[in-house]
Amino acid sequence: MTDLCLLDHTSLTELYSKTLRKYDDIKDKKLSLDMSRGKPCPEQLDLSLGLLDIVNSNSPLLVSESLDIRNYGMVDGLADAKELFGQLLQVSSNEIIIGGNSSLNMMHDTISRALLTGVIDSNTPWGKLSKIKFLCPSPGYDRHFAICETYGIEMITINMLDDGPDMDEIEKLVLQDDSIKGIWCVPKYSNPDGITYSDEVVNRLAKMPTKANDFKIFWDDAYTVHHLTDEPSIVKNILRACEDAGHPNRVFMFASTSKITFPGSGVAVMAASEENISYIKKQLSTQTIGPDKINQLRHVLFLTNLENINLHMKNHAAIIKPKFDMVLNILQAKLSKYSIASWSKPKGGYFISLNTLDGCASEVVKLASDAGVSLTPAGATYPYGKDPRDRNIRIAPTFPSLSELEAAMEVVVLCILLASIKKLLQNQII
Ligand code: PMP
Repeated sequence: MTDLCLLDHTSLTELYSKTLRKYDDIKDKKLSLDMSRGKPCPEQLDLSLGLLDIVNSNSPLLVSESLDIRNYGMVDGLADAKELFGQLLQVSSNEIIIGGNSSLNMMHDTISRALLTGVIDSNTPWGKLSKIKFLCPSPGYDRHFAICETYGIEMITINMLDDGPDMDEIEKLVLQDDSIKGIWCVPKYSNPDGITYSDEVVNRLAKMPTKANDFKIFWDDAYTVHHLTDEPSIVKNILRACEDAGHPNRVFMFASTSKITFPGSGVAVMAASEENISYIKKQLSTQTIGPDKINQLRHVLFLTNLENINLHMKNHAAIIKPKFDMVLNILQAKLSKYSIASWSKPKGGYFISLNTLDGCASEVVKLASDAGVSLTPAGATYPYGKDPRDRNIRIAPTFPSLSELEAAMEVVVLCILLASIKKLLQNQII
């Protein structure tokens, strides 16, 4: 029907009044709906209830002749957990550390240690340098950016393209600036765009010459088995690519079972070259006498192998795919005709990334909040919380029920319409 940008002032004003009436009606309903964070819903959590009973006093492996996992020790985790999660990240048992419950915690601590003591190939601890910088493909994960902001690491925004971050830009920057020490990457079903890195991007990241000799890739493979279709995306193994390119120590990989079993009571892992792992293990042993190996055992007994993890993830997909479909269908039905927004159609992960007209995202989020729907704050997907075009909104469809989601999306769509018409009217006056 109508490309809104082509409507004259009178038609736009009429549409604005009509939409505002609908918005006010919805506001009167006093909704309270949360689409702000990518949390699994209760039905997804129920899929892993078996975890709670799987370890008891008779469990195999709890106590054996050589090993009592109830006790201190095993700073890098249970051997069986290394074997299992090694399959997940396609690395060997010598290239992995099994941690506590949060991969974000492992990323944070890896950066903290780098600031305090440097990484394996540093001449100087990062924190002793006058300035350090990280490349931040954006839109990206707000909590990565929060780590940098908290510790004064300057963030450089890198555009996301269809197959990963803009490599031309990255190669140029890392070649000339030795204060660039790292890059954040979510290589599969990225948060929030749902983009999967191509082999070419992986190869270029592994190969590129960098001015800093201690440049590190923070490879956050948070959504490695979180497929929404029967055609899983595959990402080239970055650890092997770095090794082949002659930079074996360049990458730190991270993952967790937060969105496989229980966020908050899952198992997090970190993988890297053997050399990196032994360096980090030494540092870790001043940090802890050992992780929660009983929880690791629970996960080993419950998840058993990669094939079983994939089956388990199909059950997750069966619950959340209809939610993604509902959001996408509503956006298509209610907005596509107006040419005022575009959105991702992810094949996995936890988010739909929506772009409004420039300068409208904060207004949409505010209007939605006033009508009882919380969205991720506008700008959160960019360094310093500042989206240069104020257009990106991260939609997290997994947690609400289908009926809540439908109600919330009705609000979101109205808010996008309202904010867009207002912006177009303003532009006409100018
Ligand atoms: N990385 C990404 C890209 C995420 O989206 C999330 C969760 N939203 C995390 C890490 C958090 O992982 P964890 O629960 O293991 O700390």
